[in-house]
Amino acid sequence: MMNKEGIDMPVILRLISSCVGISKEAGKIIRDIMYKGELGVIQKGTGGENDPQTEADRQAQKLIISVLTRDFPKLKIVGEEDDIKLEPNLTGNWISEEILSLKPTPELETIKEEELTVWVDPLDGTTEFTWGAVDHVTVLIGVAYKDRPIGGVIHQPFYKAIKGDPNLSAGRTLWAIRGLGYGGFEAKSPPENELIIAGTKSHKSVTTQKALESTGATTLISHSGAGAKAMLVLEGKAHCYLHASPGLKRWDTCAPEAILTEIGGKVTDILGDPYNYAASVHPMCSRGAILAHTPTIHASILSKLPDDVKDIFRNK
Ligand code: AMP
Ligand code: MG
Ligand code: MG
Repeated sequence: MMNKEGIDMPVILRLISSCVGISKEAGKIIRDIMYKGELGVIQKGTGGENDPQTEADRQAQKLIISVLTRDFPKLKIVGEEDDIKLEPNLTGNWISEEILSLKPTPELETIKEEELTVWVDPLDGTTEFTWGAVDHVTVLIGVAYKDRPIGGVIHQPFYKAIKGDPNLSAGRTLWAIRGLGYGGFEAKSPPENELIIAGTKSHKSVTTQKALESTGATTLISHSGAGAKAMLVLEGKAHCYLHASPGLKRWDTCAPEAILTEIGGKVTDILGDPYNYAASVHPMCSRGAILAHTPTIHASILSKLPDDVKDIFRNK
């Protein structure tokens, strides 16, 4: 595929352009299902825990992976939802001209399609979605080159969306590509002389609580959704998002990590090690996660985490 100047576009730019476009289309599907009120909730968990899946999770994943499989046949793709049949006869095209007009770095030009893995969370914040708490809902598409995030998209479908309003510009899409910058939001620094830490609202645990309290935060925020908490850090409403339990999966963290890293942040597990995003790894982030606005904030939080909390994760 050529750009307007007739230059061949590197696959990573075509892919992120496509991820931006499809995430918006998935957002439209998610809004439609919410406004019709036919959520089609089923429980995925086998142990009786609340782990819902809705028609919106299913339809959004079907669209995203059907388009990516059609247009990028050598990609490795991992989606959250199991057993979603793909649509072989899709005809739509969804892209971002803004991304296609970027000038690639030499590193980006060398990347081959088969070296990329896409981690898809078609709807992050499903539990809250079933309650109608739609502000927490995001579509997360993260792209890893070899085993590290290189680009990502967080689409927030209900941002400035009003039921019944046909406004097609509803929702917003945050993106970043390594070395090329970011868009769709303004990266803001969190307030100096405060330490605001965001943690889970619906998956609390003793270890996460202990970790959160160890930071000496001036404010602890309980907030739903991995994408939504990552946006708090990106926009300077929190210094860090901290989770000290298993539970998050690679499809929750890949896009946030790619975007946060591009604005100068740092993301690791709670021992300070990076996660591997190769398609062959188990999706579970079994050592929790620290998503910090800067490396300094990251180092400070890491140094305060109690050893007995870290010790639990050493062999996981
Ligand atoms: P939360 O921060 O609780 O809103 O969760 C953010 C993301 O991580 C969601 O996609 C959750 O499904 C997932 N998650 C976090 N902790 C757990 C857990 N203990 N069990 C299952 N999913 C979890
Ligand atoms: Mg999720
Ligand atoms: Mg999900």
